[in-house]
Amino acid sequence: MCKRQFLVLSFFYLSAFAFSQGSVFQYARQIVDTMASESMHGRGYVNDGDKIAANYLKTEFPKIGLKSFQEDYYQKFAFPINTIPFVFSFNCTAFKRELILGKDYIVSSSSCSSELRAPMSKVLLLDSAIFFNPKKLQSFLKKVSVYCFVAVDLKKVSDAEIVTLFTNRKKNFRGLIFLKRTKLTHTCSQKVDGFPSVQLLVPDSINIQKVFKKSYADLHLTNKFIPNYESQNVIGYIPGAVYPDSFIVFSAHYDHLGQMGSKVYFPGANDNASGCAMLLNLAKYYSLPENKPKYSIAFIAFAGEEVGLLGSDYFTKNPLFPLTKIKFVFNMDIMGTGEEGITVVNGSVFKTEFDKLKQINLDNKYIKDVKSRGKAANSDHYHFSEKGVKAFFIYTMGGIKAYHDIYDRPETLPLNEFENLFKLITQFGNYLQE
Ligand SMILES: [Zn+2]
Repeated sequence: MCKRQFLVLSFFYLSAFAFSQGSVFQYARQIVDTMASESMHGRGYVNDGDKIAANYLKTEFPKIGLKSFQEDYYQKFAFPINTIPFVFSFNCTAFKRELILGKDYIVSSSSCSSELRAPMSKVLLLDSAIFFNPKKLQSFLKKVSVYCFVAVDLKKVSDAEIVTLFTNRKKNFRGLIFLKRTKLTHTCSQKVDGFPSVQLLVPDSINIQKVFKKSYADLHLTNKFIPNYESQNVIGYIPGAVYPDSFIVFSAHYDHLGQMGSKVYFPGANDNASGCAMLLNLAKYYSLPENKPKYSIAFIAFAGEEVGLLGSDYFTKNPLFPLTKIKFVFNMDIMGTGEEGITVVNGSVFKTEFDKLKQINLDNKYIKDVKSRGKAANSDHYHFSEKGVKAFFIYTMGGIKAYHDIYDRPETLPLNEFENLFKLITQFGNYLQE
């Protein structure tokens, strides 16, 4: 390499570096703090949390220079969703204290209402000794009546399988208590079960066998099923200078699990306020005249991801520009840590692009590792690659383990590799522009 080339290149990297120093981190921090705050109610379907989050993005998009395909950046669509807006109490005599919603227990997303003023009911314990023995299971199920809860202590059987077991037998009983040893993990549900259910965190100090066989419990809550909740993808773009009709897509879902009861919400700082923070930082970067792209770049904040990749499903069926005109989709979900580097879903499917991403990282030592894995339906890239569009989904590894619980909070999210990741992605984005 001649010296002049070196100087030109150094200038390019220095200006990119100057852009990222501090300001990228600061803007990311501001976005994560805002989107994971109480005012957004966990960006779900209680108190219109997702609409408040969409409105925030819609306000940021024009400020950082994104254009809109339609009048207001929104692509609206609707879906059914079950919500738990009121949780009055859950008591269980196995614990000799008041149980705290979010910390000790959460209501399952598919739960129906649970009667107010019902008396304390007996708890029957369903463990593996019973479940895997057909005779014992039969007699256990005969014992289940309207006067009891069933506490489920099964490690290798999914909660969904147990729900199906009881649904198929049309049992009338007070509800299911799923006992969890390590953590509570919330989800979203589009259906309502015929009985209420909760996840209960049981510390190791409690002997499940001894305690739950002698326990009584009660559960008071109200669900609200919304058959047609209107949500929206938020979509902006920067027109390409040379090939305006071809697109590179950066995406991140902005929805999360919402609120449960009147006070408890799932902040979703890492999942996926952090991805939105990267999305907006990238939009800001490519809006600068010196970074103007050759190809158009679309920035999509997807809705309804936690419900089942609904926003990207809708977009790929109703695209605002032909899917055949998309060169590449780069989806970002969980960008907040990175001690162990990143994983690239579809890395082994799109080898050339993966090798390039890995090489950029090796040359610059941005993050510890860039790992590859095969295809997986675990974020919004999926509907694109299933329709023949090249797509990556990257997520960070290592650091705090909070996931789909109340502990995924902005104040504990380090964003420690955020600036390095930003450099890696912009450099890969520049490669895609070649
Ligand atoms: Zn996510």
